[in-house]
Amino acid sequence: MTRLLFVLTFLLATCTEGQSQTRPILCGNELFSDIVRNNYPALQEAFDNTFTSALAGRPQRGQDPLTVNVVVHIVWKAAAENLDESIILDQLRILNEDFNQLNTDQVNLRSQFQPEAGAAGINFQLAQIIRVETEAEFAVDLLGTNLLPEVKSDILGGSTAWDPEQYLNIWVCKIQPIEIFGIEIGQILGFAFPPNNLANWPPDSGAPDPFEDGVVIDYRVFGSNNPNTIDIPGGGGQLPVKGRTPVHEVGHYFGLRHIWGDGGTLGPNDCAQSDGIDDTPFANAQSAFDCDTTKNTCAQVEMHYGQDTPDLVENYMDYASEECMNMFTNGQVALMRNVLEGPRSGLLIPFSAVTEAEQVLSFDILPNPSDDQFSVVLEIKEKFTGTVRVLDANGRNMRTNAPEPFSPGRHRIDFDDLTLAPGMYFVEIRNEQGVFAKKLIVY
Ligand SMILES: [Zn+2]
Repeated sequence: MTRLLFVLTFLLATCTEGQSQTRPILCGNELFSDIVRNNYPALQEAFDNTFTSALAGRPQRGQDPLTVNVVVHIVWKAAAENLDESIILDQLRILNEDFNQLNTDQVNLRSQFQPEAGAAGINFQLAQIIRVETEAEFAVDLLGTNLLPEVKSDILGGSTAWDPEQYLNIWVCKIQPIEIFGIEIGQILGFAFPPNNLANWPPDSGAPDPFEDGVVIDYRVFGSNNPNTIDIPGGGGQLPVKGRTPVHEVGHYFGLRHIWGDGGTLGPNDCAQSDGIDDTPFANAQSAFDCDTTKNTCAQVEMHYGQDTPDLVENYMDYASEECMNMFTNGQVALMRNVLEGPRSGLLIPFSAVTEAEQVLSFDILPNPSDDQFSVVLEIKEKFTGTVRVLDANGRNMRTNAPEPFSPGRHRIDFDDLTLAPGMYFVEIRNEQGVFAKKLIVY
């Protein structure tokens, strides 16, 4: 139950406040918040902690770019949910731009915040697109303790993750509206789990199962060239979609919390809640899917670097309109990079030199050199589950096979259909013991 609070993000809901003024706010999320606070006082305490985490230290100059392999699972029922490859590639482009501060709309950032914007230097490389046609529907069970585990399971109508320690798995599906007692109250656009037990999160905020780690996104908010649309509940027209929901969710996946620190809205607004990052100004609640740059919800409470600053609605980790989101702060960048080099470092394992010691396998590439049709022949001594990849000399992914169980004995994997330009490559096999790589020359 506790997890629900933190992973429910971008929950649009229609709430009637005061003089029947209807506007989209995140009532569902806050409702969970109140339930959790009442039932789990320790969690409330964790909430109340404002701290400076070692994870949020300033980034160093000249950091190397970090590359993450991404598997996109398109789990579809209606044809419109089976997104075209051009939409998937567009979303990868947006992730790469936004995490490298290459987004052209960064010029819209108010000048007072310009010095605080940072480039995360994280690159996203598409390893594979997996398409699964399903009869399943993916609805959130508000009384349950988990969020849409079905979409992450082959046998439940979804698509099972590739090794979540090595790949960022992104599932794209139709997320059904949230209903309470048969009344539609909102829509989740996406959610993600942070690594477990980060200092800026309450304990046990991570994925309930390693194979549920990753990001889930509603098919209508993936890519900026998506022909599908979604309305803001309660009026306000169509939600502008710029591919920022996945950016926000990947931010969570790398350990970022909401910029307003998840303070209450149903309860009293609260400027004391922190996201654990020093250079994000305090806010007492999330933005309401607008671009209100006049908002300064914690004017009395906080001095931000000696100045009273408005709310940072341009931040990807707020709930402002996607049209005005355009930045991560340096502190957020530092935290994400530290997470990627720490608890999520499995995503970064580079190809390594051949490690022959104590291995449970040996393998050969035949023929080698090759005219680009080659086979990998494995001699397995002990059973394991592993992944076979082909990388170019720069470590770029040429082919990644799905993880598969290997039993003891001899196995042959053909790569006849892989076209490689002449040059040097690496064939890599990963399993629990490590990474085993060999050089392949293509002439
Ligand atoms: Zn969120």
